[in-house]
Amino acid sequence: MTALFPNYQRFNFEIISGQGVTLTDETGKKYLDLTSGIGVCNLGYNHPIIKQAVQKQLDLVWHTSNLYQSSLQEKVATALIQGTDKKVFFCNSGTEANEAALKLARKATGKTKILAFDHSFHGRTYGALSATDNSAIKAGFGPLVPDFEFAKYNDFASLNAITTDLAAVILEVIQGEGGLVAADGKWLKAVEKKCHENGVLLIIDEVQTGMGRTGKLFSYQLFDLDPDIMTLAKGLANGIPVGAMIGKEKLAAAFGPGSHGSTFGGNPLAMASAAEVLQIMDQKFLDNVTQKADFCWYYLQKEIAVLPMVEAITGHGLMIGIHLDPKIPVGQVIAQLQQAGVLTLSSRGNTLRLLPPLVITGSEIMTGINQIKQVLEQMTVLK
Ligand code: PMP
Repeated sequence: MTALFPNYQRFNFEIISGQGVTLTDETGKKYLDLTSGIGVCNLGYNHPIIKQAVQKQLDLVWHTSNLYQSSLQEKVATALIQGTDKKVFFCNSGTEANEAALKLARKATGKTKILAFDHSFHGRTYGALSATDNSAIKAGFGPLVPDFEFAKYNDFASLNAITTDLAAVILEVIQGEGGLVAADGKWLKAVEKKCHENGVLLIIDEVQTGMGRTGKLFSYQLFDLDPDIMTLAKGLANGIPVGAMIGKEKLAAAFGPGSHGSTFGGNPLAMASAAEVLQIMDQKFLDNVTQKADFCWYYLQKEIAVLPMVEAITGHGLMIGIHLDPKIPVGQVIAQLQQAGVLTLSSRGNTLRLLPPLVITGSEIMTGINQIKQVLEQMTVLK
């Protein structure tokens, strides 16, 4: 019996504690977590510096209020904009960050049309859902918000859809829910150029790709892009709810007091955590993520890509999709891995998705890859 709506497909155990990359369930069983709770706990569980900062804030004040000035919000916003001419709006989730981005784009341009891409995922409130291309999760919720259009992701012909009557284009650099499809840098640059030429704002959704996941703080930095608006959530406060919408200074005048807001946005505990997260994720940390990712990809290619049921491995950095032959149901692979003490995720198209905490060690990477290999090999034997 459960008093909860059946929205989530949950693992059949509860997490009691976590340390680093290891989670412990109610029976004491330990798991190597290759999910980060869907890219949230990027710095691992129970991080001592973050915990201390949150505890310190808890002793001062922890209720949210945007009634007052907030030096903590200023501190986090300043760290996020990295000396650029941008402004930050804090909210509580990725969906809300995208909602704010879409509203800002419409208000700032005076236009209504938004172009998104096939297999995109931007969230589940009406605006964000309207920008999402997933018929299963949209089913039964119509009518959605008008004036959202879709073009083919990573396809040069789709550039024709970027015309002056659009307010904005919204995209993910790597589609996290949409099968770990990584866009080509040349295509992304071409989209950006076409947006600039046509007075269309470029919104990059960094909710899953951001906060170090690809070895850059934000994945658009891999390709030297300059989005007008960017959205963040998940890893920003390493597990405390937060979202952020970051827009160019020139757009700021579109928002005034009362035009958009959130009671809980920028909560002090979330901000105390985010301030530490951003301090920890310096260049040295990010370079180390890239090195670890290179190590991980080397073994993925050597041990996993060669297995007969593996069709391709896609993604970038520590955002990885192992595309399985349709005869090997990814749900069964995830269940077998769970039994073996390794937690993984799925994504669109029978894809095993790995989003390990960025603090994972080389030997933990090897353990994970060896377990995945063993489980996949067993699955063939069972067939
Ligand atoms: N955008 C992207 C790219 C995401 O991956 C997600 C969550 N999976 C969201 C938006 C929605 O974020 P949230 O669940 O925090 O609302």
